[in-house]
Amino acid sequence: MRIRPYKLNEVKLDQFSLAGYSVAGEEAVIVAPELDCCFDIGKCPREALTVNHVLLSHGHMDHVAGLPYYFAQRDFQGISDGVALVPKGLVGPLEELMTAWGRVEGHVAPHRFVGMSGGEDYELRRDLVVRTFATVHTTESLGFSLVEVRNKLKQEYEGLTGPEIVALKEKGESVTHRIELPLVAYLGDTAPANYAELPHVAEAQVLLIECTFFDGDHAGRARAGKHLHVSDLPAILEGMRNERIIICHVTRRTNLSQARKSLRDTLDGDTFKRVSFLMSRQYIEEE
Ligand SMILES: [Zn+2]
Repeated sequence: MRIRPYKLNEVKLDQFSLAGYSVAGEEAVIVAPELDCCFDIGKCPREALTVNHVLLSHGHMDHVAGLPYYFAQRDFQGISDGVALVPKGLVGPLEELMTAWGRVEGHVAPHRFVGMSGGEDYELRRDLVVRTFATVHTTESLGFSLVEVRNKLKQEYEGLTGPEIVALKEKGESVTHRIELPLVAYLGDTAPANYAELPHVAEAQVLLIECTFFDGDHAGRARAGKHLHVSDLPAILEGMRNERIIICHVTRRTNLSQARKSLRDTLDGDTFKRVSFLMSRQYIEEE
């Protein structure tokens, strides 16, 4: 037996970090500790236990297997208030799953599922909103954008003192306007679609995009499984203004240096410069 290292790969940005493990068919989980959530939960690595929100893109096992464990283990550790935002149609089946686990374990772990459809907002905390959007996969699926919300003083009030502003507020004036700063957009598993038309995706600082297949003869597999092939990227990335584009969910069938080469051959220079892989060679490749 060959022992493979298992470790999340970390990407550090100014305001937040992302730590994930994402290999097609095996496991997909990306934890955003400062943003108190994880995108999918994979097999629930211990790092995922620390965040209070699970954003589940769809019900395939490599994305959801760890969800009952997440609730059970947090209960065991005395951490409460976990919530999973899930595609609406999955609430019933996931409740049944928790009930079945309860029969296996002797009690049902406290849990909370919030069913979501595309185009909804969920306030994760006062300054952070999760915005859902419909994605295209073989089963009901969602993408998620994390949008920072700031309330900025309206320009016409900028010269006022604190007490003057308080006085205006007391009169019922609204003195601020809302500014939205999209931080991360996660597409989950998806076939090609025009996500650049969603401003919270196109303008997110970081785009987490799957690209499962790279080999020329894997295009058919991508179509059949409703996944992206490297040849789909130029169209799907057109109009995306993200600082960083992070590729997830690459199949183990592909060698990463080959994948990088085909990215370089496929993308224009400006886009290529912004792209990186979530997983490094060390964790994805057979030696
Ligand atoms: Zn899937």
